[in-house]
Amino acid sequence: MLIIMQNTASKKYKLVSRQCHPEDTLVKINKNVIFGGKKAIIIAGPCAIESKKQLLDIAKMVKKMGADMLRGGAYKPRTSPYSFQGMGEKALKMMQEVGREAGIPIVSEIISIADMDSFQKYVDMIQIGSRNMHNFDLLQRVATLGKPILLKRGMAATMEEFLLAAEYILNRGNPNVVLCERGIRTFETSSRNTLDLNTLALIQKESHLPIIADPSHSAGRYDLVLPLSRAALAAGASGLIIEVHNNPKEALSDGEQSLNFNTFKSLMQTL
Ligand code: PEP
Ligand code: MN
Repeated sequence: MLIIMQNTASKKYKLVSRQCHPEDTLVKINKNVIFGGKKAIIIAGPCAIESKKQLLDIAKMVKKMGADMLRGGAYKPRTSPYSFQGMGEKALKMMQEVGREAGIPIVSEIISIADMDSFQKYVDMIQIGSRNMHNFDLLQRVATLGKPILLKRGMAATMEEFLLAAEYILNRGNPNVVLCERGIRTFETSSRNTLDLNTLALIQKESHLPIIADPSHSAGRYDLVLPLSRAALAAGASGLIIEVHNNPKEALSDGEQSLNFNTFKSLMQTL
């Protein structure tokens, strides 16, 4: 008898696939913050950490408004070498203090294996950004730290490449991976990137890993963040990562797409 195996023959990813693991994976940050469960997890905070006071103000506000985790970049992979590159290790240390003071877990992006010890010491979850999704050495080395990893989709990566990047992490014995659709490059230039909801929906069929959306880097402008957030949640996203700044006009990075406190508050109320 001919058995028709729909869409299975060519799959290169194994550990991340639903075939290998039919149940949803839950990625637990602490007892209240679990990706992949019933509650959508909201991560909010500035693109880049600019000072301890700024970060603490933002942390307290976003937590009050219902955010579950604080984001903030200490090492920024900027397009131009002349743009603000982040405050480095001292920002990570500050972030840990702020997270403890405000009672909110923290996530920050690693861009080099040279910084692994600091990330191990200071953060609750390690972000691997779009530009490093294909950095397989970084993926494998960070995987061995055993911390939960937020893996963002490369801006020109196919779904298969994205899942294979996650496969590198699981293959090193770390199953705690949260995927993030952050918009891809298309022919459309009227917004920064195009939020690929097709792939966000498809990945939920293909993989047991939770997937969240980043409406901020998809849109590149603050006034699209609410509709994209709603669309992503409606498509089944397990959460959102949103840039929020105390004064977006003066932000050292990604001010155009950052929400101020009022807009974030109304977004949280709407969601
Ligand atoms: C970020 O989250 O600040 C960031 C740089 O995102 P991405 O890697 O998606 O561009
Ligand atoms: Mn940013």
